[in-house]
Amino acid sequence: MQKRILTGDRPTGPLHLGHYVGSLKNRVRLQHDYDTYVLVADVQALTDNFEHPEKLEANIMEVALDYLAVGIDPEKSKIVVQSMVPELTELTIYFMNLVTVATLERNPTVKEEIKQRNFVKGVPVGFWSYPISQAADITIFKADLVPVGEDQLPMIEQAREIARRFNRLYRKVLIEPRAMLGEMARLPGTDGGAKMSKSLGNCIYLSDTADAVRKRVMSMFTDPTRIHPTDPGHVEGNPVFTYHDAFNPDKAEVEDLKDRYRKGTVGDVEVKERLYRALENFLAPIRERRVALGSNRARVREIVMEGTRKGRALAQATMEEVRDAMHLSYRFE
Ligand code: ATP
Ligand code: MG
Repeated sequence: MQKRILTGDRPTGPLHLGHYVGSLKNRVRLQHDYDTYVLVADVQALTDNFEHPEKLEANIMEVALDYLAVGIDPEKSKIVVQSMVPELTELTIYFMNLVTVATLERNPTVKEEIKQRNFVKGVPVGFWSYPISQAADITIFKADLVPVGEDQLPMIEQAREIARRFNRLYRKVLIEPRAMLGEMARLPGTDGGAKMSKSLGNCIYLSDTADAVRKRVMSMFTDPTRIHPTDPGHVEGNPVFTYHDAFNPDKAEVEDLKDRYRKGTVGDVEVKERLYRALENFLAPIRERRVALGSNRARVREIVMEGTRKGRALAQATMEEVRDAMHLSYRFE
């Protein structure tokens, strides 16, 4: 049987370069060999956006357009809306018994995200426990492989533990998923922050105009120790060069720029100018496809409905097995 992929994104905004190198690129590459499900995780997005649920509906469409524009093929991949698969909620509740409070409290990604989010009224239980619902997302589809960025490794580990525990306690129904990291497991933000992230406002979006990309690149964080273009500069840890490595296919140009940067014979402006050009070469065709698709939203909606229908059927089949294994398939007639 064909192996399966499940991965996804929160519809909290359009997708950015970090999503592409961290996960999307692998999804596009592997969709021909794997039975692929891509989850638009609106229920997970609610956990820190519950005061503005109206934000999600519009962003589901934006994320779907981004998928199709980068090459997710609806003939190969199923785009599934999480809230339209209510079986996920049921499985999440069963999984809650298989995880301790202490384990949740140790999750390093959730800890970091809680710090960033500054929840004024305290941390919502839904947010704090989202690794459990994410384990349900992955296992209900019986995914073998989960292409994700590095921040998601603790979530995959949590999903593996839950699947293992379930299989031992009840019966072997679930698959222990494996993570697959992108070639750039964590793309830094344009501000030099550790991760490009929608919630941090340090992104270049796949749908940004050429003008917006230019502005973002020209104002990027570089090497703070370098004051004049003639000062020797640092390439390592400099996000402008990290982006060159990820998006500039002209490796000779990148090596030459690095070399001259280290010696202090090239200015930030030239390095950024060339990065902008490389990014434009990559983004212009994506942008064009996105505009074309955007004019046929009915078709995009159809693709999402069809993907969701197939995803739900699979989830329902898994839940039959789950309930059987847990002695919950009562027949009281
Ligand atoms: P939010 O700020 O709303 O959490 P996000 O930008 O972190 O948004 P997610 O929807 O949480 O995006 O992430 C979707 C997928 O993209 C995950 O697999 C995540 O690891 C990956 N990803 C997100 N940002 C990056 C990044 N900067 N580098 C590599 N992978 C990333
Ligand atoms: Mg995130």
